[in-house]
Amino acid sequence: NRQITLASRPVGEPTPENFKLVETAIGAPERGQVLVQSLYLSLDPYMRGRMSAAKSYAASTEIGDVMTGGVVGRVVESKHAGFKPGDIVNGTIGWQEYGLLEGSELRKIDPSLAPISTAVGVLGMPGLTAYFGLFEIGKPRPGETVVVSAASGAVGAVVSQLAKIAGARVVGIAGGPDKCAYVKDELGVDAVIDYKAEKDLAAALAKACPDGVDVYFDNVGGPVTDAVATLFNLRARMVVCGLISHYNMPNGYSGPSILRSVLTNRVTIQGMIVFDWHSRWPEGLARLGQFVRDGKLKYKEDIVAGLENAPATFIGMLNGKNFGKTLIKIAE
Ligand code: NDP
Repeated sequence: NRQITLASRPVGEPTPENFKLVETAIGAPERGQVLVQSLYLSLDPYMRGRMSAAKSYAASTEIGDVMTGGVVGRVVESKHAGFKPGDIVNGTIGWQEYGLLEGSELRKIDPSLAPISTAVGVLGMPGLTAYFGLFEIGKPRPGETVVVSAASGAVGAVVSQLAKIAGARVVGIAGGPDKCAYVKDELGVDAVIDYKAEKDLAAALAKACPDGVDVYFDNVGGPVTDAVATLFNLRARMVVCGLISHYNMPNGYSGPSILRSVLTNRVTIQGMIVFDWHSRWPEGLARLGQFVRDGKLKYKEDIVAGLENAPATFIGMLNGKNFGKTLIKIAE
């Protein structure tokens, strides 16, 4: 069983030396347990937080432990009545070829409904983050302006399309011409801004949002967010979903403050963690699944083969090298 463990904690940007490829025996399930072979490993920005010892909403990964991560896999052996060999499941198996989990920790996936890799993407944690963050916190109304940062990514692409379905005017922010073309032409937003190309981001945003900003779904923080904040309307809602521009900064971000705009415009600004809605995930998955089957919700995957390529792919994703939901294909 090949595994990738945390070898050391990164300072700033992670490097390949922070990871270690090791080999261990494949365990055997005990009562209630299931042995799963990993097929797709999901790489997500939150993993950068787990590599750090800093306090967060979830515990850090210890040095020497297997890197955490969501996986879509196939049941090899089961000592749990709910699963049999061949079943496709989703669970937190981590960066490894095989994992032993309690049956209660696994979600069964129906391969006839959608490609199984979507269980860690549009029909999994990132899709649910978009669904609950946008509809429960952002609450877009028809005709309002919704701005989405990291709009081509796993979460942002779903937010962009759901906001359109809700009848809002949607402005996406992404880095580079290819991602921007995708957000505009494929996802169907009303306007898109390449934050890497604009010298005056606030001015470009003002042009794209002539009626100001009512909902800001933020995946990035930093200068992009400061620019959006200059356009908040009265009683705007800001969904603080992610701060990827801060994750690799050794001492955190210090830029101009958005708080003045929050104060004068009485903006509602709320942090969100997708697990807060755990009891309602079935509802979210059912609606997202229907949107996908109806062709209203598109998704893009960026798949790299081989567990050994997970560290470099993860480091690249934190720098925006991914185009779509980042996945490692571990086995057929
Ligand atoms: P993505 O697929 O969007 O990949 C990350 C993207 O972030 C990159 O492709 C890049 O796109 C963008 N990015 C990287 N650095 C910067 C920067 N300095 N400034 C602006 N953009 C940057 O990842 P996910 O969709 O999986 O995650 C998006 C965000 O949502 C993350 O912040 C993540 O932590 C958060 N999240 C939060 C959850 C919650 O429960 N709160 C759950 C899941 C995710 P580009 O090339 O366009 O810059």
